[in-house]
Amino acid sequence: MDDPLLKVLLVEDDEDDYILTREFLAEIRGSNFELEWVEDYDAGLEAIHKDQHHVYLVDYRLGKNNGLDLLRAAIARGCQAPIILLTGLGDHKVESEAMRCGAADYLVKGQFDAQLLERSIRHSILRKRAERDLHQQLTRISLLNQITHAISERMDLESVLNVVLGQLEIHLPVEYGTVYLFDTQAAILSQAAARLKSQSPTAHMISLDEIAVPLSETGLEACLKGELLYEPEMVKTEAPLLRKLVQPGMGSAVVVPMMAEKNLFGILITARARANGFSIGECEFLRTLCEHVALAAHQARLHTQLQSAYDELRQTQQAVMQHERLRALGQMASGIAHDINNALSPVSGFAELLLRNEKNLTEAACRYLNHIKTASDDVAHIVTRMRDFYRKREEHQPLLPVNLNQLAQQVIELTRPRWRDISQQRGVSVEVKPDFDPHLPEIIGTESELREALTNLIFNAIDAMPRGGIITLRTRVGAWAYMRGGARTPSHVALEVIDTGVGMDEETRKHCLEPFFSTKGQLGTGLGLAMVYGVVQRHDGGIEINSAPGKGTTMRLIFPVREAPATETVEGPAAAEPVAPMRILFIDDEPLLRELVKEILECDGHQVQIADSGQSGLDAFRAANKQGKPFDAVITDLGMPHLDGRQLAQILKRESPSTPVIMMTGWATLMKGEEDLPLHVDGVLNKPPKITELQETLRRVSQRRNGGVAP
Ligand code: ADP
Ligand code: MG
Repeated sequence: MDDPLLKVLLVEDDEDDYILTREFLAEIRGSNFELEWVEDYDAGLEAIHKDQHHVYLVDYRLGKNNGLDLLRAAIARGCQAPIILLTGLGDHKVESEAMRCGAADYLVKGQFDAQLLERSIRHSILRKRAERDLHQQLTRISLLNQITHAISERMDLESVLNVVLGQLEIHLPVEYGTVYLFDTQAAILSQAAARLKSQSPTAHMISLDEIAVPLSETGLEACLKGELLYEPEMVKTEAPLLRKLVQPGMGSAVVVPMMAEKNLFGILITARARANGFSIGECEFLRTLCEHVALAAHQARLHTQLQSAYDELRQTQQAVMQHERLRALGQMASGIAHDINNALSPVSGFAELLLRNEKNLTEAACRYLNHIKTASDDVAHIVTRMRDFYRKREEHQPLLPVNLNQLAQQVIELTRPRWRDISQQRGVSVEVKPDFDPHLPEIIGTESELREALTNLIFNAIDAMPRGGIITLRTRVGAWAYMRGGARTPSHVALEVIDTGVGMDEETRKHCLEPFFSTKGQLGTGLGLAMVYGVVQRHDGGIEINSAPGKGTTMRLIFPVREAPATETVEGPAAAEPVAPMRILFIDDEPLLRELVKEILECDGHQVQIADSGQSGLDAFRAANKQGKPFDAVITDLGMPHLDGRQLAQILKRESPSTPVIMMTGWATLMKGEEDLPLHVDGVLNKPPKITELQETLRRVSQRRNGGVAP
């Protein structure tokens, strides 16, 4: 079999030597040399530069220049083919200088024959080739190093992929590179990054048109098994995804799977304009590269997932902490309110008793007593508001459909004096603009509460705009629920109060919902938003606050859209009728309250025995039964040390099921999650009891006891 054609150029000024060389080459059996000859330095340099030969034979003596100069010049100009230097004399200095300058070999004229020449030529070519391979390999290793280093510093998938494609484009180099990520569950490839060389930076957008394709439609299914795919001639490809690259001018392509934990994570496609554009070495390089990229990309994805899980957790935690803080503060406020209320109720109670029953009061005394009563009722009212920060929804709170658009319009009207007065008095203008969604679904709630909350928000907005501005009241569907088949239905509505005022800094925004937090000094109470928060909580809603100093504030209340509960028939209060005198046992650990209730009951003609604890109450109850003079009714406080009202009621009902037991509860206890009524009681009274409520409850239990109509 003939060897492949080897083109040889001889640069030699002596024709005899040319002839000799020609004869040597012809002598070699089976080989296939094509010898070309040029006579001088310049012609030699020009011919070498054309790069059309496999090997150059250069004579040392070349007129005014010598062969070493030519060797240096050729290599400086990028000559890759081997150059063998020929000399007439064996000079070691010249020899070592030649080798130092990059000569492939050095032959002394007259000392070599055909065989030696052939060996020298062949070895030079092989050595050069090996050198070049090694060099390429080293370049690739350093590129691999460079890329893995660059991606190891990145934590997000997108920049990892962009770094890889960018480096491949510049250093491998390739004309086109893209990465598709694989969705295992849906078996879909989606393009995550792409680069097309020598186009504007936005060029890759063009190739991003095919965002997602099922793997089964790409013709690249072998990637699932981790197989690399080399397509040397794109015009012949059968893979639809690769065929798309023919039109932009790609001649060959390599498809490399990226595997993470034995599963296909994605694929890298690189392409070159020329056919047969990739060597085996390059394919191997791409495969190794993809192992690294897959690992980095996989980790980047895990990192992103972890990060978002962490963010979510932190947000939840913050929300929970905020909620807990508000709860604690609200409970504290409610607790204080409760104590004040208890301390206050004898004041108004006794004043009322005096006014009712004392016949010989002077006119002035009556007036003073009325003042006392009014003043203490006012305090009670303020305290009630404090209590409302963190009250759970009470049983009797009416839950009805509420149209937030109507409600907001109402509140605009109601608050008009406040925002219009401002503009008139201070010469500034505050405008309130409705922006309602006409298709807003109704929510279920308590109108009065919602109205008060919205009023508070508007007042705050006015306060935030001392130089005037615009308040927008906006209603929108806040979120949708998607049903099977794609139809959607509103799941939440949002009510927004947007002002163009001073806004809040981070610190204020964090604390503004807390009771007693105010930045308004004497002018503020810090109760407004705490109240709003309570209302929203009771409606199972949420509050979002967007605000920044100087940028205005958006307060967004979000409420769930729900079905109205079955409407309960609410009974109107029955007219108070006198009740036949009864023997009543009243148990409470607060002396003043004991005194008050005793007075009230005795005024109605009842006979009252009091006890100051659960145990002493129980003792009195048992003693009365023993004597054959049982009580007609027992009224007991709920919260007492040792034996509390709940336990007491249980015992009483066990020992005497027919004796009515009425429980008095304060709201502090309601808040501890004990809102379920204690079993075994016939009536519940709020503390402190109003005279009429007390009468009404007694009437009801005695009626029931005497076989009257149950309510
Ligand atoms: P008050 O109005 O009595 O200060 P609030 O509970 O209503 O109490 O509000 C608490 C604080 O939140 C205010 O003092 C104010 O700093 C801030 N704030 C509330 N609403 C706004 C708003 N619309 N713009 C700027 N700051 C606000
Ligand atoms: Mg306020």
